[in-house]
Amino acid sequence: MRLLTFITALLWCFLSFAGGADPSAKRDTVAAVVMYGEEVLFDAVTGLNDQQVRDLRDSVLKFHGSSTFTNYLDLYISLTSKSEEQLVNYSDSLFETDEVPYALINQINIFLANRPEEFEEVIPKDLFVGNALLDIPATEMYPKWIVGNPNPYEWNLGEEDTALSILLTDHKMLGEFQVPVKNVMTSKFGWRDGRMHNGVDIDLEVWDPVVSAFPGVVRVARVSGGYGRVVVVRHYNGLETLYAHLHRFKVKEGDKVEAGQLLGLGGSSGHSTGSHLHFEVRFKGKPLNPLSFISFDENSLVNDTLMLKRTKNGYVSYPKGILIYTVKRGDSLFEIARLYGTTTYRLAELNGIRRNGYLYVGQRLRVI
Ligand SMILES: [Zn+2]
Repeated sequence: MRLLTFITALLWCFLSFAGGADPSAKRDTVAAVVMYGEEVLFDAVTGLNDQQVRDLRDSVLKFHGSSTFTNYLDLYISLTSKSEEQLVNYSDSLFETDEVPYALINQINIFLANRPEEFEEVIPKDLFVGNALLDIPATEMYPKWIVGNPNPYEWNLGEEDTALSILLTDHKMLGEFQVPVKNVMTSKFGWRDGRMHNGVDIDLEVWDPVVSAFPGVVRVARVSGGYGRVVVVRHYNGLETLYAHLHRFKVKEGDKVEAGQLLGLGGSSGHSTGSHLHFEVRFKGKPLNPLSFISFDENSLVNDTLMLKRTKNGYVSYPKGILIYTVKRGDSLFEIARLYGTTTYRLAELNGIRRNGYLYVGQRLRVI
């Protein structure tokens, strides 16, 4: 029996998106699906789930009997539980066969491009010894506890991470969240003047109190380069927070602190123009965008659970369960996609909009 070889207009649309002339596409993370000719096993852009493929196989078997096509469908079903690496290796090996099954290879490539992320649940274990907090938080996530160095971790710590779900607070043992300073944000996370700004800047007056965002243990409280007087706290939820340009310390290294406890007084020590707090949130040494899961206006977390996706150089963070993003002045689809660890293609698809079209302030976009 001949292979089913139809392909939808949607797939063409997808391919032309991926190779289009949209200027933002150069910086985009959309990966084109590699296709060898147009043959596919079944009509799919987003793919069929395993049960749908089984149903398709069963109905073809019933009416046409066993064939190369049903064999390929069986193979496809057996492949979808494999890891990405195994699938890529298997797909490569198919090119060695006498009659290269391009339809199956294309179908595997479409599957890989649309594969749902699997989230690994990372809830800190062994957090408490008896009723007392451990002396060193989150030891299961970090290889060492080094006092006094803000950046002690190997660059590849967390290399094995793919997608993580981290409980930030349980409102009991993990404590509550507090913004370190309630004031105007003067600089956001991201590229600034050709350099990466790894935190956010919050305006303050010298001597204003700066408090800890979560409970934890002070790992650093000393003068360090451009940070000036800097405090780093490791928290029981696995994050570390950094507070720079302080005028005075109110804690010392090794101190246990509560959320909201005074760490120091604000200032402009180190490399700083005007008094402000430079505040960073990190996981395994990699900076996270605090705005992606903290509402500074409301002094709260957007969600108790933080989702992290590992990227080449760090993590993309976003709150669990967020579905709708309201477009603000200055937003671009690319920035929104980056904030939520997705692609402009996916956002355009979810919302039925064009990737290179206009966004409107107040427009509500589904992001996950
Ligand atoms: Zn800063």
